[in-house]
Amino acid sequence: TTGVKRVLSIQSHVVHGYVGNKVATFPLQLLGFDVDPLNSVQFSNHTGYNCFKGPISTEKELANIFEGLEENKLLGHYSHLLTGYIGNPLFLRQVGEILRRIRIANPDLIYVCDPVMGDNGSMYVPKELLPVYRDEIIPLADIVTPNQYEVELLTGKEVRSEAAVWEAMDWFHERKIKTVVISSSDLGQPGILRAFLSQINGPRLAIDIPKQGDKDLFFTGTGDLFASLFLAHSHASGDVTEAFEKTIATLQAVIRRTVEQMPRQRSSGSVQAWERELKLIQSKSEIEHPKVVLKAQRL
Ligand code: ATP
Ligand code: PLP
Ligand code: MG
Ligand code: MG
Repeated sequence: TTGVKRVLSIQSHVVHGYVGNKVATFPLQLLGFDVDPLNSVQFSNHTGYNCFKGPISTEKELANIFEGLEENKLLGHYSHLLTGYIGNPLFLRQVGEILRRIRIANPDLIYVCDPVMGDNGSMYVPKELLPVYRDEIIPLADIVTPNQYEVELLTGKEVRSEAAVWEAMDWFHERKIKTVVISSSDLGQPGILRAFLSQINGPRLAIDIPKQGDKDLFFTGTGDLFASLFLAHSHASGDVTEAFEKTIATLQAVIRRTVEQMPRQRSSGSVQAWERELKLIQSKSEIEHPKVVLKAQRL
């Protein structure tokens, strides 16, 4: 399977906007991957709007779609599995089953797991997902991209210092996960998002990211975009530092364009959800050719 670049991407689909598969597919394609998107939900828009409508896939529907791929002997074609937002524990269990079967077809499959559960101290998925991620799914992953809060949920320990970050990283490494990336944390200076990366027998890295936009402005889909870019860049380059820097470089360019093109420069309280949608398509060139400005520190 050398040279194969095909991702099975199990994430949400939104009709309008850019989260989940809608934000992951375009960058992966631009970076040379065939993408097979399998949608865990089909919503009108992301959940941060006033309302959202649409169906949630069941584990039975997932198993049924997968059966089609399996019967046509397509499983060996995947170099990567990428998973993101999944809102139901039975669906997540079924993902574990799917992963085992793809690994039989291709033992070299790389599994990138973004264990989406919550942010800033609160969970936005049912709490029953936590033990399934912790005990069944995470141990099967090669690369994980939790945020600070998700690390605390998984390890069962607070992460309030840099020492605690590296301890938490080792919790993952003990479970044989090669690469752990915490794409943002509040452990930097004020106004700085600090990201961390740790690899078994590899470097420990941090990147300080100046927060863009007003203090209260936030973006949706940036975590999903991070995971897809990191998958692509870590595959392209054996150098994990370069992959980390390029991923952050593209994110910064996308966010800069998004902030600049907001219809009205206003205080964040009145910025509408649709005005915060990432300017992904417009950032084609920065996805293809990231310009690294923020460099990783080796710790
Ligand atoms: P998720 O919320 O998806 O579970 P996360 O909390 O780590 O994961 P974000 O906080 O959105 O995700 O961060 C992902 C990346 O997005 C960061 O590494 C950073 O590059 C970028 N990012 C997000 N918000 C900002 C911001 N306000 N200014 C600059 N960069 C940002
Ligand atoms: N998928 C759906 C349907 C969502 O509503 C969201 C966030 O609201 C996400 C995925 C994840 O977005 P992010 O990458 O910011 O964590
Ligand atoms: Mg976040
Ligand atoms: Mg996320």
